[in-house]
Amino acid sequence: MQNKYDVVIIGAGAAGLMCAHTAAARNKKVALLDHSNKLAEKIRISGGGRCNFTNINTSPSQYISNNPAFCISPLSRYTPNHFCELLDKYNITYHEKTLGQLFCDGKSEQIIDLLDFLCKQNNVVRKMGVKVEQIEQNSSGFCLITDTEIIQTEVLVIASGGLSIPYIGASGFGYAIAKQFKLNIVPTKPALVPLTLGVEQLESFANLSGTSFFSRTSIGRTSFTENSLITHRGLSGPAILQISSYWDKDMAITLDLLPTDDICYLLEMNRKSNKLLNNFLHQFFSEKFALSLCDLIGINKSISQLSNKEIAKIKQTIHGLTITPNGTLGYKKAEVTKGGVDTRELSSKTMAVKNNSNLFFIGEVVDVTGHLGGYNFQWAWASAVVCGNSI
Ligand SMILES: Cc1cc2nc3c(=O)[nH]c(=O)nc-3n(C[C@H](O)[C@H](O)[C@H](O)COP(=O)(O)OP(=O)(O)OC[C@H]3O[C@@H](n4cnc5c(N)ncnc54)[C@H](O)[C@@H]3O)c2cc1C
Repeated sequence: MQNKYDVVIIGAGAAGLMCAHTAAARNKKVALLDHSNKLAEKIRISGGGRCNFTNINTSPSQYISNNPAFCISPLSRYTPNHFCELLDKYNITYHEKTLGQLFCDGKSEQIIDLLDFLCKQNNVVRKMGVKVEQIEQNSSGFCLITDTEIIQTEVLVIASGGLSIPYIGASGFGYAIAKQFKLNIVPTKPALVPLTLGVEQLESFANLSGTSFFSRTSIGRTSFTENSLITHRGLSGPAILQISSYWDKDMAITLDLLPTDDICYLLEMNRKSNKLLNNFLHQFFSEKFALSLCDLIGINKSISQLSNKEIAKIKQTIHGLTITPNGTLGYKKAEVTKGGVDTRELSSKTMAVKNNSNLFFIGEVVDVTGHLGGYNFQWAWASAVVCGNSI
């Protein structure tokens, strides 16, 4: 039978491409299927077109999962160094932008082209624009009924990603297959996503849309000290995207707007100054932002006239501004999907389903979600290689 493979991988994104060439290099007959006609669109649009393909600081602590220890094994067996060695071998140059984040010097397409080349070199059969309509497990593996053909495979790998950015091909396919095989799914939600504010809060930031500021943004004990951005819908920027992965309905986030200074000490040092508070704050914030903060605090007088009670109020806003977002911009704008196939159902050595050893789940469809900064691609590469090497 011509349509018979050792391995069929559904989803030709980051994880699918990586797994396909890894398995094919081990003499497996591999087919890689995608319902989209375009290969790895998320790699192409990632990192502003330069793909933040890994982070040199990768460790399990940068991943969120209901089973946090699961990612330790795959991440330790395929590290950022391994991926860098692959890029070095094919002369793809890159640089560290900030906080260990590695980006291509050129365009993201270089990574897609490399993975595509490795698949072609290892004779992976690629089938794009294919709709998988039904999957049945039989004595010789899995039978896939697609809109164009029937395919038989011994091993099935689901690499169909999460729900974010549906217009470039994201779908709930992987979760549906997990359900079909009676696997538990950790509830999904948009993550690394801008947060929205209600009308009242938006009004207090009305003239600040486009303003960015540095802050320590926290929910409970989790915090990120990076830039944030005020938008016409609410809040965005790296610190907000990071904290959004920990945010749930009705939760407040706390912003420390001067995380490396102590506003009380700074005011005390200037106790005799006749500067108005907004002019004083302008040394740390833009003019507009400083004025809005004074509005928010409800005080704008000279430093020398501030009472201790007023200083405490200023401290409360500068070091502990609390905002309760009313939602997120959803999967349309989320970089990733939190939750997914419960890792307790999978082997961390192989990514196979524990009680169905020829069925594998890799990449974002699994309940392992990285922080912003190259960690999600590193998970895609690591889970894919571990899987490809075990098939
Ligand atoms: C705008 C944006 C920027 C990002 N930037 C970065 C970054 O710089 N660094 C980083 O680490 N992460 C980044 N990410 C996250 C990263 O892209 C993902 O975590 C990663 O692509 C997941 O890889 P994956 O292979 O599991 O899934 P995907 O790359 O999403 O691939 C899944 C594939 O499965 C296919 N598919 C879906 N449903 C079906 C179906 N029913 N049948 C057949 N095929 C199907 C899709 O078409 C797709 O090709 C970004 C995400 C977005 C949205």
